[in-house]
Amino acid sequence: MDRPRKDAGPGTVARADAPRPAPHELAPHEVVLIHGSDLDRGLDEHEARDRLERYGPNVLPRADTAGWPVRWLRQFHHPLIYILLASAAITLLLGDLVDSAVILAVLLVNAVVGFVQESRAEAALDELRAMARTRARVVRGGRVAEVPSEELVPGDLVLLEAGDKVPADLRLVRVAELCADESALTGESVPVAKDEVVLPQATPVTDRRNMVYSGTVITSGTATGIVVATGAETELGRIHRFVTEAEPLATPLTRKIARFSAILTAAILALSALTFAVGMVRGEPVKETFIAAVALAVAAIPEGLPAVVTITLAIGVSRMAARRAVIRRLPAVETLGSTTVICTDKTGTLTENRMTVRVIRTPDRTVTVTGAGYAPVGELVDEDGRRADLGEDAALRWSLLAGACCNDAAFLGDRASVAGDPTEAAMLVAADKAGLGHEHARARFPRIAEQPFRPERRYMATLHETPDRPGEWIVFVKGATERLVRMCAWEMMAGGECRPLDAGAALRSAEELAGQGLRVLATAMCRVPATAGPEESLDAALRAGTLVFTGMQAMLDPPRPGAVRAVRACRDAGISVKMITGDHATTAAAVARRIGILPGGDVLTGEDLARLTGPEFSAAVERAAVFARVSPEQKLRLVVALQERRHVVAMTGDGVNDAPALRRADIGIAMGRSGTEVAKDAADMVLTDDDFASIEAAAEEGRGVFDNLTKFIVWTLPTNAGQGLVILVAILFGLTLPMLPLQILWINMITAVTLGLTLAFEPKEPGIMRRPPRDPGRPLLTGALVVRILLVAGLMIAGALWLFEWELRRGAGLAEARTAAVNLFVMVELCYLFNCRSLTLPVWRVGLFSNRWSLAGVAAQILAQLALTYLPVMNRLFHTAPIGLDAWLRVLALAGAATLIVAVDKRLRGMHL
Ligand code: ADP
Ligand code: MG
Repeated sequence: MDRPRKDAGPGTVARADAPRPAPHELAPHEVVLIHGSDLDRGLDEHEARDRLERYGPNVLPRADTAGWPVRWLRQFHHPLIYILLASAAITLLLGDLVDSAVILAVLLVNAVVGFVQESRAEAALDELRAMARTRARVVRGGRVAEVPSEELVPGDLVLLEAGDKVPADLRLVRVAELCADESALTGESVPVAKDEVVLPQATPVTDRRNMVYSGTVITSGTATGIVVATGAETELGRIHRFVTEAEPLATPLTRKIARFSAILTAAILALSALTFAVGMVRGEPVKETFIAAVALAVAAIPEGLPAVVTITLAIGVSRMAARRAVIRRLPAVETLGSTTVICTDKTGTLTENRMTVRVIRTPDRTVTVTGAGYAPVGELVDEDGRRADLGEDAALRWSLLAGACCNDAAFLGDRASVAGDPTEAAMLVAADKAGLGHEHARARFPRIAEQPFRPERRYMATLHETPDRPGEWIVFVKGATERLVRMCAWEMMAGGECRPLDAGAALRSAEELAGQGLRVLATAMCRVPATAGPEESLDAALRAGTLVFTGMQAMLDPPRPGAVRAVRACRDAGISVKMITGDHATTAAAVARRIGILPGGDVLTGEDLARLTGPEFSAAVERAAVFARVSPEQKLRLVVALQERRHVVAMTGDGVNDAPALRRADIGIAMGRSGTEVAKDAADMVLTDDDFASIEAAAEEGRGVFDNLTKFIVWTLPTNAGQGLVILVAILFGLTLPMLPLQILWINMITAVTLGLTLAFEPKEPGIMRRPPRDPGRPLLTGALVVRILLVAGLMIAGALWLFEWELRRGAGLAEARTAAVNLFVMVELCYLFNCRSLTLPVWRVGLFSNRWSLAGVAAQILAQLALTYLPVMNRLFHTAPIGLDAWLRVLALAGAATLIVAVDKRLRGMHL
């Protein structure tokens, strides 16, 4: 280092000419001072607003995404368009002004449609990104508030806990067991421990223990930090000058369709080249044959397909959002439709996560607690029905005190909701009902050290000062009973005396309470001499295994009202539901039975899973319906095992350690309310209401999306084939063209907009959740679909050729006969649209009014045809002529016959193509 090293202890004053000291070499209060903040109150709201003006939002600048002119021009970047442009130029050179103008108009309309479609899809995705923004907890004006991370400014006091994504660069000012995963910055994924000490100036960024950096992740513990850099000024911003929106529109399906379209385009171009060659050999005029070949290609290639896929997926995204499932990654929309297993959390997803302590059992007494919800109304009642007196029961009192003090939850407003864990909130309420007053208890025993709750260790412990005995501290612990009995040597009786712990009796007691579907938390305490440091004392006391067991609090968490229905719906849809929980096996089984998950499945615990290997493991996983006391690492194993059995797996998770399982699952689902930022970040979908029923709803919407895509494909491929092949057939057989190339371009342009697109808005089919999940490996072009393409295209061509001949023979002019053929084509496509609107219902039962978009599209299409047929301008441009009522009747009769044949085909060959 070329700068002289200076003493970075507290009280160092930076000289005016010296470079400004970095936050890591200053004491917390100095950093606070420099940033004009306050350790307790944070920034004031208006100061924060001013600074937001001054420093700008806390985001990395976006890499330039294409503006609209570029996106507009991109619409013309397509081999087909080049061919059309070339043919417009050629017709112009040959002096055919009108034809060339019409071709250009077709091009323009095509580009507009493409542009609008793309913008719509982009807008939907922008909305999707906005919904996925992270939020940060800050102290502003002395109060805790949640703000979008973009609104953080230097000087903001930020609260962090396990599972948070660090929203800006922070100098830590208060730390409890904080560890951060800084792999986003350093590539090193082992979490690093953090504290608030002052560090020498020369400490490299990776070793600055008193700082946390934007983009890294808190893996455990809690902390408070002060924002020292935001946006591009952060270390992350220094590494990545810009964010590149790397989330493309591509999904497995869009990629499959892109591949399919490429092959199809090549094949059709080859066919049209062949057509041109045949025309030349026959000695047809060059210009006409060329335009016919171009029209063939343009009409046959389903150029709208990729855009419609994206739009349909985007519509799916907004339908899912309306049902409280926010999609973070587009592929989830299509994968949801083929989900075969949903692995779901119990607490909060299947149940309400509104806990109420119902029973408190000390080593020698059981009391029940009355009242429900968070209101402190209710009382503790003895077995004989009388009000329990706390004064004479030491164990009961210490259990309630442990519950109140070893606790991070707090009520918001008038107890309407809680900040923190509902399990903990329930214990606060129990203490209040007993008359202890949780705020009073917390004030009486100030906390000086803690080990926060972590799912993998299943307990929480705190160390407190005690007012009555100055030389002593008190340890409070609460957690899973099996875990706590291993830390205890004694149990406390009502009179306050202790006897050796009867672990067997305690476990049996817990089992019995769990059998009623109650969630059981045990409590323990002990006194330690206040000699060593608080952290060490707490750690030593927990490790000694000599705590005093004070009892258990058993709480009820009612099943969500919609859960039973949603679980049944999943079963009908061939989706199996598995419960995964950290809770006790007996509690989990009782709840699962109540919700309808259990019949027919086993209960496996984390220990069982740890014993199983290989094929045994995967068979057991397939059979089981409830997994209890499961660790996050085991969740990952479960996902892998199910996927190996060819399942499409949806998996919920909320903690930091769930991220790998969420990423691995086909659909990772995070909880919007109770989930951590890390889990949301790893997830494909976030539930805004944490409700299992929303997963089921999303799966239903996913199926609907896929159905609508199928409908569009089933409509567009046959009609495009008909449009293109009619020219091919005419030229190959040396017939007079029954429709002019320009007229084919007209049909292609108009029907794609008015008819096909509207299928994306089709409502869901009845019985959509009573059929098995879609096989994701199914090819796009099934044999059945090929037959359908040939049938519909064949009917269109045969009908057009026949009608054209009939009209000519009847004495109509060429223009008139062609107009009739064009109208027939459009009418067949229109009727076929109704056939495609449902995959299951016959054409006459889809309900004329169930999709207003398609009704509007049909009306527009009919108006367009009337204009084409009767407006003199259109007659001139497109070489059409008015036709009489009798011609219309023939058109309608032929279209009706074709529709009938296709309907019979649909009936005979099964419904799903
Ligand atoms: P789940 O959310 O699936 O019900 P958790 O992983 O949250 O399971 O909890 C597992 C176990 O850890 C619980 O059964 C309980 O015994 C214990 N536990 C849960 N929350 C707390 C907490 N805040 N403090 C102490 N122990 C807890
Ligand atoms: Mg939990």
